[in-house]
Amino acid sequence: MMMNVPLLVSSMLERAERYFPKKTVVSRTSNGIVTHTYKEIGERTRRLSSALDKIGVSKGDRVGTLAWNHHRHLEAYFGIPGIGAVLHTINIRLSPAHIVYIINHAEDKVLLFDEDLLPLLEKVKEQLKTVEAFVIMTDKDELPETNLEPLYHYEKIVNEGNPTFQFKKDLDENDPVGMCYTSATTGNPKGVVYSNRGVVLHSMALGLADGSGLTESDIAMPVVPMFHVNAWGLPFAAVWFGTTLVMPGPYFTPKVLAELIDSEKVTMTAGVPTIWLGLLNELEQGSYDTSSLTRILCGGSAAPKGLIKAFESKYKIPFIHAYGMTETTPLVVLSRLKSYQNNLSEEEKLEIRSKQGSIVPLVEMKVVGANGEVANDGKEMGELLLRGNWIADEYYKDERTNEAFRDGWLHTGDVVTVDEEGIVKIVDRTKDLIKSGGEWISSVDIENALMAHEAVFEAAVIAVPHERWQERPVACVVLKDAAKDQITKDELYEFLKPQFAKWWLPDDIIFMDEIPKTSVGKFLKRALRDQLKDHLSQVK
Ligand code: ADP
Repeated sequence: MMMNVPLLVSSMLERAERYFPKKTVVSRTSNGIVTHTYKEIGERTRRLSSALDKIGVSKGDRVGTLAWNHHRHLEAYFGIPGIGAVLHTINIRLSPAHIVYIINHAEDKVLLFDEDLLPLLEKVKEQLKTVEAFVIMTDKDELPETNLEPLYHYEKIVNEGNPTFQFKKDLDENDPVGMCYTSATTGNPKGVVYSNRGVVLHSMALGLADGSGLTESDIAMPVVPMFHVNAWGLPFAAVWFGTTLVMPGPYFTPKVLAELIDSEKVTMTAGVPTIWLGLLNELEQGSYDTSSLTRILCGGSAAPKGLIKAFESKYKIPFIHAYGMTETTPLVVLSRLKSYQNNLSEEEKLEIRSKQGSIVPLVEMKVVGANGEVANDGKEMGELLLRGNWIADEYYKDERTNEAFRDGWLHTGDVVTVDEEGIVKIVDRTKDLIKSGGEWISSVDIENALMAHEAVFEAAVIAVPHERWQERPVACVVLKDAAKDQITKDELYEFLKPQFAKWWLPDDIIFMDEIPKTSVGKFLKRALRDQLKDHLSQVK
C-alpha cells in the first residue's frame, strides 16, 4: 500500500518559497509595475495569515475578496487558506444587490477589497450582516476617509505580521479552500465550494503537457479575473510550479495586455474570446513583439474559428480552446490535435481545434439525450454530464442543488455532440438552443460562421418566438470599424448560405454597435432578447 498524504494548497506555496525563491510575480499597479520574488510573496503571505489570525479569522471562516489580478490578491489566495479559512472570491462586476446577497449568503467575516470598490462597499455596508472587518488593498500610504469600520490598511497589517507564521497543517484535504458564486439564469447566484484536494488535483491537470502544459519556464499572464473560477486555477498551479506570473492589474485595456506581452515576454496567457478579439484588434493597429507567446488558452464561451485562424496564421500564436465552468474548477475539456491528425488539411485541423476538445484525465463524462446516451457520431445532441475529483457535488446551501446534481453526475446544462474520436463540441446552453419546427438549431454554429466573415467583429444569435415554427434564429452583428456601412445583410446571407441548411438561416440580421455582455464577457442573450423585443415582434 501507499502513503496517504493530504493534498493541501498551503504546500503549493511552500514549494515555491523553498525551490523557486528567486522566481517572480510581476504586477501592474497604480504606481506602475512592481515585482516580488516568491521568497517575498511567501513572507508577505505568512504575515497576512498571521494578521488575519489576529483579527479573529479562524478555520472554516469565509474571507471575501473584491479585487483585480495582482500580487496582493495572490497573497490572499494562499494567506486565507493558510489559516484554514475559505478564500471567497467575489465577482466585482455583479450588481450591488447580487454582491450583497453573495456576501451574506457565504457569511463572510472579513472583506479584503481594492480601493476602487470602496464606494460600492460604503453604499451597501448597512446590508452586510456578517462582516466584522474590512481590509483595503491600496497603493497609497494612508487610509481613505470612510465610514467603513473597522478598516485595516493591507500593507500595514502585512508589515506588522509575522514573516515566519506557520500555515495550519492539521487540515483534511477535503476541507474547503475557496468558494465562488456563478450566475444563474434566474434568481440569485449559486455558490460552489472548492476543496484543497480538488484544487491541488486540478492544478496537476493544468501542468499536463497535453493540458495547458504550464511549467516553471513559463511566464504566465492570467487575464481571466481572479474572481472568476480562481482565474481558471492558474495562480495556484503557477505558484506550485515556480512559474513567473504577470498580473495585469485593474482596468486593463487591450493595449495594456499587448504591452505586457511585449515587455514581460509572456509565454502563455488565458482569457475569454472577447479579450482575444480586443487584443487582435490592438495587434492590427499597433506594433508589438508577441513572439514570446507559445500559446493562448481560450475558454468561457465558444472561440470563433476566425479568431483561432487569425492568431495562428497571422501571429503564429497557437490557440488552445478549452471548456469548463465554475462548478468544475474549471478545466474539464481541452482541444489538442491527436498525433495522427497532423496529416489532415489545415481546414480540417481548424475544424477539430475549434471544437472544445477531449475530456482531461481524472474527469469522466456522459452525454445524455432524450433516448439515453447519444451515439459518438458528432451529430446526435445531448446534455453533458460530468463527474470527477474537481467537480462540485452541490451548490452551497442551495435548493437548486437538486436540479444540477443527480445520480452522482453534474448536469451541466450544456448541449453537446461527441464524435468518433471522443471530441466534444458545445452546441449550445440548453436555454439558448433554438427549437424550430421540432428540430434544434445551434446558435453557436451560426455565430461562429458569422464571426468568420472578415467584416464581422462579433455576432450573437438568439431565438425569437414564431407562430408556425415555435422559434426562429435572429442574428445580431457588430461590424468591424473599417467595415461599417460597407457591407449589407444580403452579403452576409450569401456568405452563410453555402454553410447551412436553408432552415438554419436567421430570419433577420440586425446590425448593432455593441452586444450586451455578462460580467465575465459572455454574450448576455437575455438582455439582447429584451433589447430587441419590439423589433422582433415585427419579424415574421
Ligand atoms: P457563468 O455561467 O457565470 O458565465 P461559468 O464560467 O461557470 O460562469 O460558465 C460556464 C459556462 O460557459 C458553461 O456551462 C458553458 O455554457 C460556457 N462555456 C465555457 N467554456 C466554453 C467554451 N469553450 N465553448 C462554449 N461554451 C463555453
